[in-house]
Amino acid sequence: MTAAPIVREANYVDGRWVPPAAGRSLDVENPYTEGVAGRAPLSDATDVAAAVAAADRAFDTWSATPGPERAGHLRALHRAVADRVEDLAATWTAEVGIPLTAARAATAGLPLTVLAQMADLAESAEADQTSGRTIVSRVPIGVVGAITPWNYPLSQLAIKTATALAAGCTVVAKPSEIAPLCAYAFADIVDSVGLPPGVFNLVGGDGPAVGEAIAGDPRVRAVSFTGSTATGRRVMTLAAGNLARVCLELGGKSASLVLDDEVLEQAVRATVASCLRNGGQTCTALTRLVVPRRLADRAVAVAADEMGRVVAGDPTDERTTLGPLVSARQRARVLDFVAGADADPVYRGTVPDGSGHFVAPTLFRRVDPGSPLAQEEIFGPVLAVLEVADEDEAVRVANGTPYGLAAAVWHGDHEHALAVARRMVAGSVTVNGGAFDATAPYGGLRHSGLGRELGQAGIDEFLEARAIFRA
Ligand code: NAD
Repeated sequence: MTAAPIVREANYVDGRWVPPAAGRSLDVENPYTEGVAGRAPLSDATDVAAAVAAADRAFDTWSATPGPERAGHLRALHRAVADRVEDLAATWTAEVGIPLTAARAATAGLPLTVLAQMADLAESAEADQTSGRTIVSRVPIGVVGAITPWNYPLSQLAIKTATALAAGCTVVAKPSEIAPLCAYAFADIVDSVGLPPGVFNLVGGDGPAVGEAIAGDPRVRAVSFTGSTATGRRVMTLAAGNLARVCLELGGKSASLVLDDEVLEQAVRATVASCLRNGGQTCTALTRLVVPRRLADRAVAVAADEMGRVVAGDPTDERTTLGPLVSARQRARVLDFVAGADADPVYRGTVPDGSGHFVAPTLFRRVDPGSPLAQEEIFGPVLAVLEVADEDEAVRVANGTPYGLAAAVWHGDHEHALAVARRMVAGSVTVNGGAFDATAPYGGLRHSGLGRELGQAGIDEFLEARAIFRA
């Protein structure tokens, strides 16, 4: 069934719906039907200037609003998002192609957890501290620019917004032009709960016009960016012009180290699931399976079996576990990596022939650790198996990319796995399938980013210390 296009004609600025000054819009593609999922504003620097001015005006009052009152607003947002999970998930599926079942679970997961947690942290925020006669306060940094990618369009916006609001900052957000519709649904929610005008603003458009205008505006005192490493670098350069702070959540090429027999089956299945999540379009996807040579045959057999269980197809069908990639461009990029590989894949799944930017789950083994398949973020359902002599080599290979976002370590001896985890160059490491903790700091090392999101660490990115010396 083809849903009616979702047509958004206005940005959300200063508590009102305002069409972009130039009156332009862009079409959003449905990656499965290849028809139009909707339309959204294509704004420019004029629209950004109005939004930043509104956020700047709102800042004095919002930053002085007591924590418990800000917490009340965040709880209202939490309730309103919870009420609209189904609608938000369907919108995500329409604009990104993620299977609806996964979209529903993820929409009811991280965004809600973070909104609730940020409400609690806003409520319990410490008052001033004293050091001798000096009063030390943690003050909100100012207007936060939030620039997000297309793959997890609600989560990223909800995390940045909830954290900035909890810290006492106001927000100017820009969603990806590839999938902006969830962000407009989030702005509807903000509007419905009656946040003070200017506290949250949303301006849609592309990177060169809208993203650059946000990152380069001198009134924006922190830029919270999630996206590719190349764009992150550009955002940091623009922010440097104003000595504004940046928090960058960038790409990854995360490794899963499967180090013994005992846990192999569970480990490999979990690695494949992570690699294929959202069609492989997940920053923390485990895309390199690093195994000792003696375990490689078994690991490859389990990985192929797990890939064989994938059901590719219409993402709105509840049975589907793999949808299309987000765009024809993304599909072509992934297929270029596959075609450019040194050897043929050892497994390749099947995908529907009709419409949709599908790429079949693809498995390579004996991948050279220095090759593009092992070094570059592919952002598709492609798993590279890297075979190593021993654990030291496994650690070296795992740490041997420019990235440092996530890693997983599997070993029957839990303490041993923990010791290996401490050797990983990664912002987060999962040991033997440990669950993701949304209250822990999240972010990357090296080219995977700078600064942290989630938990108190996330709020700290938007605060600065102020000392008052009393007579
Ligand atoms: P992207 O860098 O192309 O775009 C991200 C956002 O930046 C979009 O809103 C885009 O319009 C904007 N942008 C583009 N050029 C800009 C410029 N010159 N100035 C300012 N803004 C600009 O990334 P994408 O393709 O949308 O998303 C995929 C990337 O995001 C992957 O590399 C993925 O790993 C990364 N990602 C990272 C995390 C994380 O938490 N580390 C999470 C999700 C995605």
